[in-house]
Amino acid sequence: MSDCIFCKIAKGEIPSKKVYEDDKVLAFYDIEPAAPVHVLVIPKNHIGSINEINNENSSIVAHIFEVINKIVVELNIADTGYRVVSNCGDQGGQTVGHLHFHLLGGRNLAWPPG
Ligand code: 5GP
Ligand code: ZN
Repeated sequence: MSDCIFCKIAKGEIPSKKVYEDDKVLAFYDIEPAAPVHVLVIPKNHIGSINEINNENSSIVAHIFEVINKIVVELNIADTGYRVVSNCGDQGGQTVGHLHFHLLGGRNLAWPPG
């Protein structure tokens, strides 16, 4: 989508601090980190949210989790622990309408979230 900020980041039109990239997925540091490690993992193709995951595009989600598995090893949080979150819709706290998975780690994370 042309006016989508994460589509622009995926295309390199807006700069980001990249952690991982391949032809389908980009991972980059969140601009407002909520934890010592706060990475966003996105599909390069526009998917609005979890609500738009379907039989045609769902393989990207499995790929994203394989990528997350690599990133947590690289960033040294695989053993200490981490959380993966995808906020969906207004009450879920989603502010960017392009599917993304927050990868949070490096501190004790409270549960339940606010
Ligand atoms: P949401 O609130 O939709 O779950 O998460 C959106 C996340 O994107 C927020 O944590 C916010 O800090 C991050 N974010 C918004 N705009 C940018 C940006 O231009 N660059 C980066 N790196 N992160 C962004
Ligand atoms: Zn987008």
